Amino acid sequence: MSDKLVDFHCHLDLFPDFEAKVRECDDLGIFTLAVTTTPRAWRRNEELASKTRHVRAALGLHPQLVASNGREIDLFEKLLPLTRYVGEVGLDAGPRFFRSMPQQRAVFGRILDACVSGEPKILSVHSVRATTEVLDMVERRLAGSGNQVVLHWFSGTRSEARRAVELGCWFSVNAQMMAKLKSKEIFAAEVPLEKVLTETDGPFSETNGKSSTPSNARESVMAFAEAYGLSHADASSQVLKNLRTLVG
Ligand code: MN
Repeated sequence: MSDKLVDFHCHLDLFPDFEAKVRECDDLGIFTLAVTTTPRAWRRNEELASKTRHVRAALGLHPQLVASNGREIDLFEKLLPLTRYVGEVGLDAGPRFFRSMPQQRAVFGRILDACVSGEPKILSVHSVRATTEVLDMVERRLAGSGNQVVLHWFSGTRSEARRAVELGCWFSVNAQMMAKLKSKEIFAAEVPLEKVLTETDGPFSETNGKSSTPSNARESVMAFAEAYGLSHADASSQVLKNLRTLVG
């Protein structure tokens, strides 16, 4: 099988050498979803990604930026018909962002409703300390719509994982989150390996003490393999197969 990698959630535009990173992903054959944090950042991502075979740009409005950039939801809705990929979107009820939760709910609600009104999308979704609420909104607003949700850096409980699987969610995993024994146990017990993709969340996650870059999707595959007791080769081909199933 191929040794190609999948990084289904990476902030390429937050690396100092953004354009070089896009080229690098394409040259190395890393299938990369370049998520964005504000709708204004999307056009440049789309422009660069559209020239590649392996990189796709996702339209995002990060929950941690909703307090400052929430008004860009109007631009988000305008751009949405131009893309198949959405992210990073979601909810963050962690201590630093808890206060903007009312606004985050309103924005994420509009995003989900907009996704239902057009062609189905693939969404990379953030759910820090808000897994149940994210799943409630996904269930209420996206059920039966054909939209596909990928839970990025899932950190919920075992029963939340089970519920997400029942709702048809996918999961993108990185080495940092899977280093926790609890995460490995939850995934192995509740998440079918057919629903797992890899990500790095670069530059935000760390691999061996350094900011992750898309080639660290290799460590994400290793973490997936370890959690599920697979060989590296089997884990790698499973992820590629899952990607093909998801994107068609
Ligand atoms: Mn992210």
